[in-house]
Amino acid sequence: MNLLIMGAPGSGKGTFSSRLKDNYSLAHISTGDIFRKNISENTALGQEAKSYMDKGLLVPDDLVNRLVLDTLENLPEGVNGYLLDGYPRTLEQAKAFDEATKGTANEVDQILFMDVPHDVLKKRILGRRTCPKCGEIYNIYFKPTAVENVCDNCGSALSARADDNEESLKTRLGEYTRMTQPVIDYYGEQDKVAAINADNDFETIWAQITEALGK
Ligand code: AMP
Repeated sequence: MNLLIMGAPGSGKGTFSSRLKDNYSLAHISTGDIFRKNISENTALGQEAKSYMDKGLLVPDDLVNRLVLDTLENLPEGVNGYLLDGYPRTLEQAKAFDEATKGTANEVDQILFMDVPHDVLKKRILGRRTCPKCGEIYNIYFKPTAVENVCDNCGSALSARADDNEESLKTRLGEYTRMTQPVIDYYGEQDKVAAINADNDFETIWAQITEALGK
């Protein structure tokens, strides 16, 4: 089973990818995570991607297309397919990806569209805080710590992701509406999109996802 998980920043793609990957034995490929890893290791790819990411802009299509196709060539043994998270993000990426995979084992089967109103996304993203020491994720609106900005688990000071600020978020949501929404429409025309009402609690969202995949 080959899946795409799509949705605006903060729509829960990362959270549900983790459960999907384990439950369906899929290779989870997050283009954002791959770029962040390359940035932290200061590779040539990381240096190129960073200049765009810091501004909330999309990395150029040909760079991302090559990265994803290379990654699919080298999937780990024993997986039941892939779960692409954060790709394709533009119509050009979607068309290039379809052309490269059509009729092969890597053709996409279904798209999960995580649908959340933009005002909820803003709170989720601008409120997001992570503990740099133990990795626990909080939210000042939805999951606050007992003491402001201090991790409940280990007492460390919390931090926010570099691009989770108001200015970058405005650009990212704008890019999403302009560039990524058309991708969902494109796959909708192929009858491959399952819309998930993702402004819900975890189990309600998960039930919708398993139902969509069981069809
Ligand atoms: P994410 O973690 O998915 O929110 O991605 C973080 C950033 O990585 C985005 O704001 C883009 O700058 C870059 N990025 C990730 N995936 C793509 C993609 N498919 N196309 C272009 N840029 C991407």
